[in-house]
Amino acid sequence: MARILTGVKPTGTLTLGNYIGVLKNLKSLQNEGEMFIFIADLHALTLPIEPSILTKNSIDIACFYLAAGLDPKKNTIFLQSSVSEHAELAIILQNYLYMGELSRMTQYKDQSIKLNQNAIGLGIFAYPVLMASDILLYDVDTIPVGEDQVQHVELTRDLANRFNKRYGDTFTLPQPLVNKVGKRIMSLSDPTKKMSKSDSKGDIYLLDDEKTIRKKIMSAVTDLDNTIKYDVNKKPGISNLLTIYAALSDCSIEEAEKHFSGCGYGDFKKEVAEVVVKELVPFQERYQEILSSGAYKEALEEGAKKAKAVASKTLLRVKEKIGLVTL
Ligand code: ATP
Ligand code: MG
Repeated sequence: MARILTGVKPTGTLTLGNYIGVLKNLKSLQNEGEMFIFIADLHALTLPIEPSILTKNSIDIACFYLAAGLDPKKNTIFLQSSVSEHAELAIILQNYLYMGELSRMTQYKDQSIKLNQNAIGLGIFAYPVLMASDILLYDVDTIPVGEDQVQHVELTRDLANRFNKRYGDTFTLPQPLVNKVGKRIMSLSDPTKKMSKSDSKGDIYLLDDEKTIRKKIMSAVTDLDNTIKYDVNKKPGISNLLTIYAALSDCSIEEAEKHFSGCGYGDFKKEVAEVVVKELVPFQERYQEILSSGAYKEALEEGAKKAKAVASKTLLRVKEKIGLVTL
């Protein structure tokens, strides 16, 4: 059975981008393979974060996974930091990725610009090394990601290839799986930028209340020509709203365009807001239930055990290949 792995960093409250790009699809994916789903808490340390916020965000993501319909018995849901093999493998793999490759990663370039030049942590530079470890530990075939993470998955493939050539077949080569619709949800206030939880401009948060969601969508930046057409370059705001609508209504962009042909921007936005509210409000209710019942704790404990059982075998295999003495 194919292995599927996916993770979200607890750097902030999850956005509609995370929901459409990843969360929404997990429920159906769980029938297609063996899923490893984690909270990338070690990755969240790459930018400054308050300890109490990191804790809260991590628990929230566990609850979001369950609220998205993932069955904790069928899937392995865990915290990255509770499976120490991730960090151990990263120490080994850092020797097989090169500084030049790492410095070309878009995420590193984007995020380091925002930091003071003297305070760019090694972790943000080495991020793809830890991400490669996350993936390679589980012999993963498929990684459902938003478009922004494809570059990192490709780097993981390069690394796995390099390693396999040198030491013989060790790692499975992973494939990124990107949605047709909703691979990149953009900011509502600047539709030329990706909606990101660590950059709060123009985000819809998964825990925003109904009124806030409607207000944010009604004030989304659009354009002046009053036609509802998908054209990312000329009409990024309208295209983004069409994408949100299509992704949440499970229709194609063309069908969404047809549905809104001749409609004014105000009515269009109202209808987009309606599908977002219809999706998120019941999701929030499930989240609240899971949070207050504490059901996520058991899921995370079980998940850590199951993940560790697989990860420790891979780590042992790697250690043997490279000549570390295993006792
Ligand atoms: P950060 O700002 O901390 O990087 P993020 O919103 O980019 O936060 P990540 O934790 O980096 O979220 O990514 C989690 C998953 O969500 C990844 O698979 C990523 O590709 C996907 N994702 C993130 N933003 C979007 C977006 N705007 N549209 C679609 N998918 C997205
Ligand atoms: Mg990101």
